[in-house]
Amino acid sequence: MNKDNPIFDNEKKYLLNTYKRIPIEISHGEGVYLYSKDRKKYLDFFAGLAVNALGYSHPAIQEAINEQASKYIHLSNYYISDPQIKLAELLIKISGMSKVFFTNSGTEAVEASIKLIRKFYGPEKQIISLSDSFHGRTYGSLSLTGREAYRKNFEPLLQNILQIKHNNINELENEINKNTAAVFLEFIQGEGGINIISDEFDEKLNELKTKFNFAIVADEIQSGLGRTGKAFGFNHFKTKPDLIVIAKALGGGLPLGALLTIEKYSEVFKPGDHGSTFGGNPVACSAGTALLNEIFESGLLEQVSRLGNYLVNELNILKNNFPSLIKDVRGFGFMIGIEMAYDCANIVSLMREKNVLINCTNTNVVRLLPPLITEKEQIDYFLYNFNEVLKELK
Ligand SMILES: *Cc1c(COP(=O)(O)O)cnc(C)c1O
Repeated sequence: MNKDNPIFDNEKKYLLNTYKRIPIEISHGEGVYLYSKDRKKYLDFFAGLAVNALGYSHPAIQEAINEQASKYIHLSNYYISDPQIKLAELLIKISGMSKVFFTNSGTEAVEASIKLIRKFYGPEKQIISLSDSFHGRTYGSLSLTGREAYRKNFEPLLQNILQIKHNNINELENEINKNTAAVFLEFIQGEGGINIISDEFDEKLNELKTKFNFAIVADEIQSGLGRTGKAFGFNHFKTKPDLIVIAKALGGGLPLGALLTIEKYSEVFKPGDHGSTFGGNPVACSAGTALLNEIFESGLLEQVSRLGNYLVNELNILKNNFPSLIKDVRGFGFMIGIEMAYDCANIVSLMREKNVLINCTNTNVVRLLPPLITEKEQIDYFLYNFNEVLKELK
C-alpha cells in the first residue's frame, strides 16, 4: 500500500468508522482475480463474502445488466415486472418452494420472515435461534443473531426470541414446545466459523417439528445458491425448511435478497402487510436469472463439489503436518473453515503478502469462499502458499 495515498485518509475523514478496511486499493476484477492499483494480482478466495459467485466481470451477468438497464432500471412495485417473475419462477424450480418475496439484502429477507412468522403464529409465541448464528444487523435480524459482540450496546431487542446452544440436543428438546413459532438456523454457519449442524441435531429438529408444527427458517444467505456444491446448505441434511432466506450471490453482485415460502405460509401476507420500494430491482433480478442459469445449467455444482472435496482432503493433510497450528477442517463445496489453534488475523495478512485473499472469522477460523468458477490450478496455488505460511509460522 502507498501510505501517502489520500484515499485512506479521506475514507477515515468522510465515512463512519464501521469497517476495518484491507490496506489495498482495488482497480478492477476479472474472473477469480482482483487487481490493485499498484498492479498486483490477487487470487480472491473470499469472493466479496460469497457475493461474487461467478467471480468478477462475468460476461453473462454483464450482458443481462446491460440489456435490462436499457429498458428500465427501476420500476415501482405498483407494476408487474418481467425480470422479477422470471427469477421467482427459477427460484421456485430450484427450491421446490411455493412463493417468493424480493428484498434488497439478507437482513431484509430475515425481517420479512420474522414478520410473516409473527403474523401467522401471533406475538406471544417464541422464536428460537442458535448460538454463534448470524442473521443480519437490523433490529429483528440482530435479535436472532447469537453473537454477543454484535448485540451488546443495542438492547433492548425483540421479545420472545431465545438463543439455544448450537448442536445442543438437550436444550433443543427442553426449549421447544407448543409455544414455539419457529426455529431459525444456518445449517452451515458462516460468520460463526463454518459450524455444521450435527446429524443428531438434524434428526431431533425434524422429530420435534413433526410433533409441534413450528416453522423451520433456513438462513441460506451465505450457504445457498450452489456455494456448498448443492442448491442449498440444507440439501446436505434431512430437515426440510418451510421458509428460506437468500441474498449475497443472488443479484450477481447487485443488491438483492428473497424470502421463499412453502404453500402453507404463502397467503399470510396480504397487500399492505409488507413491501419495499427497491425490493426486486429489475436489473438485479435480470442479473440473478443470468447467475442461476450459469450455476444450475452448466455442471458448475458438480465441479464445486468435486474440487471442494479435493480442497478439504488437501487441507486435512496440512492439518496432519501442522497439528499445533490447525485444529479442524470442515465445510462443504466452496464454503470451508480451517479452525486454527489461535487468532487467524495474522494468517490473512501473510497470505495477502503472497497475493491470496482469504478471511478470518470468529477469531480463529480461516474462512474460504472461493468463487464457484474456481479451478484446480487456483486451488493448488492457494494450497502451495498456505503451506508456505504454515511453515513460516511453525
Ligand atoms: C450476510 C448474512 C446475512 C445478512 O445479509 P446482509 O445482506 O448483509 O444484510 C444474514 N445471514 C447470513 C447467514 C449471512 O451470511
